Amino acid sequence: MNAQAIKLVATAFSMKKEIKYLFFTMLAIIMVPIFSVMILTQAGINLVSNALATYDPQRLVVDIHDPLTGKVIDHVDQSVAWPIQGAVTLEYGERSPYQPFHTGIDIAGPIGDPVIAFMDGEVVYADTESWGFGRHVKINNGHFITSIYAHLDTIDPNIHVGDTITAGTIIGTRGNTGWSTGPHLHFQINIFGIPVNPRTFLQGNP
Ligand SMILES: [Zn+2]
Repeated sequence: MNAQAIKLVATAFSMKKEIKYLFFTMLAIIMVPIFSVMILTQAGINLVSNALATYDPQRLVVDIHDPLTGKVIDHVDQSVAWPIQGAVTLEYGERSPYQPFHTGIDIAGPIGDPVIAFMDGEVVYADTESWGFGRHVKINNGHFITSIYAHLDTIDPNIHVGDTITAGTIIGTRGNTGWSTGPHLHFQINIFGIPVNPRTFLQGNP
């Protein structure tokens, strides 16, 4: 550990219990991403989700919280939309035979249905892996938010890394690529790189 990491750990001991837990999770994410997933599972996913993003029904905004202090440091008040319609087959945080907890929402339906960006942002990844997310697009939505659209059949030819796009822009089509057992969109929202419940941002059902 370098001097900065030691200083961070020392700071953590003066924090409230929940925040301390979150802090060490963050530290683990930076140092050992695989173990961080296990820690999140043990902690109960709601702790993390509720700590990083909360919906305020009075102001109709999603507040973004500093992972270290819990203070509101940003908010999202622009329009957001479900990226596709279909049947939710696996919720965020649920366990499946393939993973200890689910980091996004699975929305099943026909291959080829258009997938749209849920919020404004900049495309930071648009490519294919033979494993994991398969063909997928990642968008930096600002406000410390990144969204991931995975298992796509196709990526729209107009979508390139570096493009700035608006909510509702078609980014590709639903598919069954990568680690997928049937046609569905895996839709994931990360804050500070940590998966949170997309339902915090989106009302109703897809
Ligand atoms: Zn999924």
